[in-house]
Amino acid sequence: KAKESGRNQYHFFARKMQDKINRRVMLEHLIRKGLEKNEFEVYYQPIVDCRSNTLFGLEALARWTHPDEGMISPVEFIPVAEESGLIAPLGEWVLTRACTDLVDIHHHCEGVHLSVNVSSRQYPLGFDAECVKRILDDTGIMGHDLSLEITESILLDDDPDILSWLNGFRALGVGLSIDDFGTGYSSLSYLKRFPIDYLKIDQAFVASLNTDDDSTPLVRAIIAMARSLNMKIIAEGVELKTQLDTIESLSCHYVQGYYFAKPMPKDQLLVWMADYLQKPSD
Ligand code: C2E
Ligand code: MG
Ligand code: MG
Ligand code: MG
Repeated sequence: KAKESGRNQYHFFARKMQDKINRRVMLEHLIRKGLEKNEFEVYYQPIVDCRSNTLFGLEALARWTHPDEGMISPVEFIPVAEESGLIAPLGEWVLTRACTDLVDIHHHCEGVHLSVNVSSRQYPLGFDAECVKRILDDTGIMGHDLSLEITESILLDDDPDILSWLNGFRALGVGLSIDDFGTGYSSLSYLKRFPIDYLKIDQAFVASLNTDDDSTPLVRAIIAMARSLNMKIIAEGVELKTQLDTIESLSCHYVQGYYFAKPMPKDQLLVWMADYLQKPSD
């Protein structure tokens, strides 16, 4: 009896595993076709300056609607794109699209900053300063209008060329952000070695502000550290006024989250901007 249930369990897991693998293989195929068929889009989420309440910048976020499968989250398709190498063409496509859109956005509001996610998997796949320079030149965007978001895991890579890879972007005037800070294993000493301009505090810390498991002391420490290293801090995932108040009291530079706006397609963003820029800031 025990043996039989063990076997059933084995079949159950093997089946689940096979389903997972099948979905990955299918997604990889669909991403490749989706790139050809132009099924991807870029949405933009506002990043607000805490002090002035003005719009500082926008984070570009990939979106994908497959004609049969519907909307597929980047949480699902980005890892598949990374494992298959398709992140290379996808990443370049997102950057090009976002820079092209930024030209138009600048017609409505000058100087808005653009932030684009870059996967560490793009490093060995040839995405570099030369590639960014070509896209900047083609679209007419200045290097200082752009920053690239990387996760802290890249700082743990012991490849000595990582530093020159990052410095290549900076030579173009492009800024560098550490995304989802606090979830990985990097430390102060790692941060110091790299030319980082912005630190994005992970949503998990913002979510637990003012809760039983209050993250306020931790966030205060992160902000103090980042400030001492001359970095600007962006708090991600701000949904509530109480979170915003706490974050502001900790002297954070920028905030981003549903409290202000969700990621939106460009046309919707322009409407949001017109409305936001009209409001008197308090
Ligand atoms: P991320 O770079 O940390 O982006 C922030 C994520 O948090 C986005 O999820 C955004 O929609 C979500 N978010 C923003 N404000 C709030 C909030 O107030 N509450 C909550 N619960 N969520 C909020 P999204 O768009 O699903 O993207 C997930 C992740 O996928 C991104 O995390 C990023 O790591 C990756 N990703 C998205 N687009 C790209 C891309 O073009 N290239 C690469 N390499 N990765 C991307
Ligand atoms: Mg990001
Ligand atoms: Mg990220
Ligand atoms: Mg993040």
